[in-house]
Parts: sequence; structure tokens; C-alpha cells
Amino acid sequence: MASLLRAATWGLFPWRGYCSRGRKGELSKGFVEALKAVVGSPHVSTAAVVREHHGHDESVHRCQPPDAVVWPQNVEQVSRLAALCYSQGVPIIPFGTGTGLEGGVCAVQGGVCVNLTHMDRILELNPEDFSVVVEPGVTRKALNTHLRDSGLWFPVDPGADASLCGMAATGASGTNAVRYGTMRDNVLNLEVVLPDGRLLHTAGPGRHFRKSAAGYNLTGLFVGSEGTLGLITATTLRLHPAPEATVAATCAFPSVQAAVDSTVHILQAAVPVARIEFLDEITMDACNRYSKLNCSVAPTLFLEFHGSEKALEEQLQRAEEITQHHGASHFSWAKDAEERSRLWQARHNAWYAVLALRPGCKGYSTDVCVPISRLPEILVQAKEDLNASGLTGATAGHVGDGNFHCMLSVDPEDPEELRRVKAFAERLSRRALALHGTCTGEHGIGLGKRQLLQEEVGAVGVQTMRQLKAMLDPQGLMNPGKVL
Ligand SMILES: Cc1cc2nc3c(=O)[nH]c(=O)nc-3n(C[C@H](O)[C@H](O)[C@H](O)COP(=O)(O)OP(=O)(O)OC[C@H]3O[C@@H](n4cnc5c(N)ncnc54)[C@H](O)[C@@H]3O)c2cc1C
Repeated sequence: MASLLRAATWGLFPWRGYCSRGRKGELSKGFVEALKAVVGSPHVSTAAVVREHHGHDESVHRCQPPDAVVWPQNVEQVSRLAALCYSQGVPIIPFGTGTGLEGGVCAVQGGVCVNLTHMDRILELNPEDFSVVVEPGVTRKALNTHLRDSGLWFPVDPGADASLCGMAATGASGTNAVRYGTMRDNVLNLEVVLPDGRLLHTAGPGRHFRKSAAGYNLTGLFVGSEGTLGLITATTLRLHPAPEATVAATCAFPSVQAAVDSTVHILQAAVPVARIEFLDEITMDACNRYSKLNCSVAPTLFLEFHGSEKALEEQLQRAEEITQHHGASHFSWAKDAEERSRLWQARHNAWYAVLALRPGCKGYSTDVCVPISRLPEILVQAKEDLNASGLTGATAGHVGDGNFHCMLSVDPEDPEELRRVKAFAERLSRRALALHGTCTGEHGIGLGKRQLLQEEVGAVGVQTMRQLKAMLDPQGLMNPGKVL
């Protein structure tokens, strides 16, 4: 499959100076030596097992290994690597922690995978300005561990312990976005190595202001660019004060509709929830088994509230009234930090819990996001369609943002099942587009949603994106085959 794809796209880039004669797509010995001269021999690998490891993420997309993997130690090396690849027409694929769900690191045309995990320093903490600068190997958990005694934290939390620059690259979010926003709201500046090796600071070197009206928003352009415009070698992030007090709660509902109606009602009543997550009965059953919980097997909301003790009391009372109005039962609070952490760990492990229902299968996650008022109808329809299609799947999501996932388990060796999963996902995405939503709230376009992106932003939208891409990456070397 990988060689077929490579052959199909080969004509687009007829001259590949890095190839060994007669063996299209493989790196010449001289080119590998040149890579070693930049980062040192121990930091270059062409071993099959290493290339395989870097040719896939957590998605169902088939592994497509790069021709070599390199581990730069600093931004100068990244810049020299990019310039070297650029001069020889070699594709470059940035690699964070490989937790993506859209095949973003698959090397569809081969090339060099740049694994950025060795660059893992926290470069600068500005507590009074609520900002921090981190290298691409720093993960969200590592940052929050570092911040533990500072009274600050970084709230964006995709379930996985992803790299913060990978999260910027995918425009990630997670359970806290309803109150604290997504990566789009929390990245203040990016240091980017452009495909030809030049260094760009999207908001100007060293700047970490809250607001700006200075020209085009280059930071916004690179957040969510999925490695197709450049390599992010540092990100400046906005930090938030750690909440004075926190309470989590779960409540079970008689129906999906009642749970989602409650969500809309809580938001409309302006209760400042920090998290409001929906898990359907299948997800709850899977979480009970996988994470040893003892919750009701019913459509459930997981909520969290942040604030002063007094504010929390009011928020809790208001939320409880609303959920009871919609028929909620089994309302239980978790004030204790250990109990809260157990609940949220179970929520973050929901993906693995659902996969464990069918051992040996891979997971496919849909990611639609709709205006909040349209959430009840699309969620109920998605569940009905899932039941009718005979697929194995569960539904969970960040319902406070109108974003939810159908997590389907699929046998990757069964083409018929894969076809049905893809057809279901496309139907759901098109339903979201018809409701003025998007096909992806947080996972990105990657390999599989390029057609849907065209339908979402229209011909002129895609044309404009292609023009921007061609201007920054005229040879089409940055993570080819993704997004556009
Ligand atoms: C269990 C589980 C739960 C998840 N839950 C969520 C969730 O709730 N919300 C959410 O948003 N996501 C979620 N994800 C998806 C994933 O964690 C995010 O997409 C994350 O942002 C990927 O980061 P990464 O470092 O692993 O990137 P990778 O998978 O390594 O790469 C992803 C893409 O970004 C590019 N990239 C990576 N690093 C850089 C860089 N430094 N410069 C330029 N491009 C780069 C890659 O080329 C690729 O295209 C989940 C994944 C799992 C496995």
C-alpha cells in the first residue's frame, strides 16, 4: 500500500535528489551521512523497526514508515536539517509523541521524520505575565508537574500526554476547553523552522502579550497546520491561575436527549462549568470494567467546577437543580483530589476502555462539532445510525463545546467493515456540516478528511489554503498528503 501511494504521488515531484539510483523513495548513503553530520550518528536511524514505529499514530490509518528518523537536539540543528532536505527535495514529517488520531505522521511519500522529543526544556517561565515558553519535547503533564508549586497551570488536556507543540500543530483541546479555550486560544507565540530552514517567530522574537492588532495573525495560521507549513520548535503558552477549589460530579440520565438537554440548559443558565463531558451507556459500561468504577450504566455527565468555596456552592446547587429537572439520578460529588483524579483518569481512558471491548481491533474516532443548540438532535441521530449500521461503537464527548466522538472499534484487516466505518463517519460529518458545524473539532484533517475540508470551507477557501501552502512550502515537502 505504501509503495503504491508513493508511486501514485511520485509524478508530482519528479526529481528526488536524495534517492539511490533505481530505488525510488529510499535515501542515498550520502544523504544519510549528511543527516548524521548535522545531528550526530547516534541521532539518526534507518532501522526498519524504528521507521515502522514512526510511520503511524493511534489512528486506524495504515503504517507508512519514513525513510529515516532523526532526533535533533536544538533549533539550529532543526534549521540545518530542513535546509538540507529542502535542497535535496526530501519530504519532512514532524513527530511529537505520535498520539494523533488522523494519520498525521504517516510518511505517505517517505522522507525524513523529525522526532522532536529530545528538545524538552522549559525555556522561560513568566509567572507575573502568566506565560511559559517550552520546547517541542515538553508534554502537557510534564509542564503541569513543573508548574505544581507556582499557583499556575496549563488547562488544555487531550486525553493522551501529548507534546505541547504537537498539540499546537493539531489545534488540540480536551475536557477543559469549555472554560479555558483550546490551543487556538492559549498559544501566544510560536518559533517555527520554515521548510527552507529560515526561523520565524510568529508574534516576533520573545513577545508574549495578551492582545495584538499587529498585522496578519501568523500564530493562528500555524496553530492547526498539522506539520504542513513548518516545524514548531518552541511555543509560548498562556497560563491560568490554579483554581482555589475544585469539585467534580457525575449524574446519570434516563436518555441521551435528557443528558444533552441538561448540558445546553446549564450553559444557557451561564453556570461557569470547567468541564462538562457526556458518556453514553456503552462508554460507561466500558469505563466501569476498564477503570474499575462503579457508576450507573446509563447516559452520564461528568462535570467539574472551579472557583472559591462560596462560588462552588452556588454553581453546584444550580447545576443539580437543572440536571434534576431533566430527570437525572445518582448525582454524586467528588471533592477529594484522589477521587476526582480517578474519575477524570477514567474519562481520559474511555478510548482504551472502548477498544478493550473488542481485543485486537483498532479504533476510529469521529470528531464533529456543531453549534450547541443543534447538539441534541445530531447526537441522538448519530446513536440511532450507529445502532442501525451494526458497528461496534460508543459515544462520548466534550458536549459543552458541541463536540463529541463516536469511538468505533474496527478490524483493520476487514475491508468491508472499514468501508462501513468510513461511510458512517462521512454521513455523520456531512450531517454536522448541514447543521453549520465542522467535521473536526480537535483532531484535525490529517489523511482522511481532506474531501470533507473542501465541502466545509468551499472552493475559494481551499484555493486560499493551497496558495498559502504554496507560498510557504513551494516544493510541497512539509508533511505531504495531509490537510490539502
Ligand atoms: C486516548 C487519546 C485521547 C485523545 N483525546 C484527545 C482530545 O480530547 N482532544 C484532542 O484534541 N486530541 C485528543 N487526542 C489526539 C492527540 O492526543 C492530539 O491530536 C495531540 O495534539 C497530538 O499531539 P502529538 O504530540 O502526539 O502529535 P503527533 O501525533 O506526533 O503529530 C500530530 C500532527 O502534528 C504534527 N506535529 C507534531 N509535532 C509537531 C511540531 N513540533 N511541529 C510541527 N508539526 C508537528 C505531525 O506532523 C502530525 O501531523 C487523543 C489521543 C488519544 C490517543
